[in-house]
Amino acid sequence: MNRVYNFSAGPSMLPMAVLESAQKDLICYGDSGMSIMEMSHRSPEYDKIIKDAEALLREIMNIPDNYKVLFLQGGASTQFAAVPLNLMNKNNKADYILSGQFSTKAYKEAQKYGDVVAVASSKDVNFSEIPATTRDSFRPDADYVHICFNNTIYGTKYSYIPDTGDIPLVADMSSCIISEPVDVTKFGLIYAGAQKNMAPAGLTLVIVREDLIGNAREDTPAMLDYKLMAEGESMYNTPPCWCIYVAKLVYEWIKELGGLEEMKKLNEKKAKVLYDYLDSQDYYIAPVKKESRSMMNVTFVTGNTDLDKKFASEASAAGLKNLKGHRSVGGMRASIYNAMPYEGVVALVEFMKKFAAENPKA
Ligand SMILES: *Cc1c(COP(=O)(O)O)cnc(C)c1O
Repeated sequence: MNRVYNFSAGPSMLPMAVLESAQKDLICYGDSGMSIMEMSHRSPEYDKIIKDAEALLREIMNIPDNYKVLFLQGGASTQFAAVPLNLMNKNNKADYILSGQFSTKAYKEAQKYGDVVAVASSKDVNFSEIPATTRDSFRPDADYVHICFNNTIYGTKYSYIPDTGDIPLVADMSSCIISEPVDVTKFGLIYAGAQKNMAPAGLTLVIVREDLIGNAREDTPAMLDYKLMAEGESMYNTPPCWCIYVAKLVYEWIKELGGLEEMKKLNEKKAKVLYDYLDSQDYYIAPVKKESRSMMNVTFVTGNTDLDKKFASEASAAGLKNLKGHRSVGGMRASIYNAMPYEGVVALVEFMKKFAAENPKA
């Protein structure tokens, strides 16, 4: 078996140590005589797993007690509807910042439920930067402001937390969750699909301030009602048991590494290798404005679509997989989430140098 460096944007790499633990437990968990996949979610063994997962996440992310942690299903895309259904409940107004495809999808979904405005957008520069906002950008009576903190497709990230004053800030953190410390208290709600940086596909994390729940619209489906989910301690119905278990292993892995401060250092070190190389040459172009660069998803192009194609296919043959950019933007994208080893990024840069030397532009 030959493991490759997998630069997929999601589902994406999991830490080897996590995969090995999961493999060890796959057939028989502890002395339960069964796999976690076969186990009742109401069993004492599983109860401990989900409680430990929540406790570990609270610890590594430093989540205050007045926030609920929910392990849900439906992907981040389901939250595009759940957020307005639960939170757009005072003035039926919400403000969205458009910084890419996912935030635009979230905005369009929310428009079904109320007066929803795009207060800023970087679409005119092909989402190559994070739109600038000030407190005055937002309607004072908006029920919340929604942002996408890291834009997976374009490779941009907020380098600061927008100042929304008293208006709760909601952030889609699908592709940057647990990559570095964040001040949870600055957010009313954080959500993330797990398959980018946390667990296998099938789990969605919601971290929500208590005072924001309990006022969902009357017609909110039960499965999207944060209050019911919180009261049921993420067990209103069967939770994604296996994914939560793997998430727990990932949280343990981060804790053992030294927590999110250490994780951040490692991620910065990886991103720096790639960006330093990109900035030192003129064969590849990195389209993202420097202050908006993502540490998780790094985009670049050769400027020639045939060369881009050749790059992705030759890289794949060399064991550097899934470097083709998103179908809507082309070029290349290297997703270098927590689990991507430093050596993988070094191998990518070496390949980039070799490819540039072998394929001069006409
Ligand atoms: C992948 C992704 C989504 C979509 O997630 P699903 O779990 O597939 O619904 C939403 N937002 C961001 C930032 C993403 O990276």
